[in-house]
Amino acid sequence: LDQKGKAMEPIVRAIDLTYRIGSRTLWTDLNFEVSAGSFKALTGPSGSGKTTLLNCIGLLDRPTAGELTVCGHSTSGISERRARALRRTAIGYLFQDFALVEADSIRDNVALAAPVGLGRSERLDRVSAALDAVGLAGRQKEKVFVLSGGEQQRVALARILVRQPELILADEPTASLDRSNAAMVLDLLREQAESGAAVLI
Ligand code: ADP
Ligand code: MG
Repeated sequence: LDQKGKAMEPIVRAIDLTYRIGSRTLWTDLNFEVSAGSFKALTGPSGSGKTTLLNCIGLLDRPTAGELTVCGHSTSGISERRARALRRTAIGYLFQDFALVEADSIRDNVALAAPVGLGRSERLDRVSAALDAVGLAGRQKEKVFVLSGGEQQRVALARILVRQPELILADEPTASLDRSNAAMVLDLLREQAESGAAVLI
């Protein structure tokens, strides 16, 4: 329930979702919901279609059948323009391979993701706060390519924190990280759920 006692829609609702590639069925009849404030993990063997499903939820791909609703929009009828807007504002995607601009500084990578329309000083404050949260505040000017995998994933997470999206999708976010970076990334994701985001790993 929301603050007025009204029933809230889940951030993600999947009804009978199916994905086929040619004659191969990757997954079929998936039914689940992810609500604001929840922290959920989807598991399965390599090649079972986890990334494909996250890409569908992240509006980068479409299921072949079934009904998928993301942030109040059905993905079947959504325009590319609206999908792009949701990807930019409402959905934070933590990719397995970090997806950073390696030749740019930590600060520039995070600043690039900050919401448009902020003044310069507010923008820099937000970037600093996000980097502080991931333990990289003192290293803003370093280039991304000199960082370890764990540090790069923390920069990628700061890019999400700077926007505070309502939905966070994370594709095996700790797969290539050492134990302490993995624990830190998971703790930060859990904190995002506690402060109201829907988090799906
Ligand atoms: P997981 O993330 O669980 O390891 P993926 O979603 O990456 O699984 O992939 C599932 C399977 O679907 C893999 O065998 C992959 O090669 C295949 N696949 C995914 N997308 C496509 C595509 N567009 N065309 C052909 N095969 C694909
Ligand atoms: Mg995968």
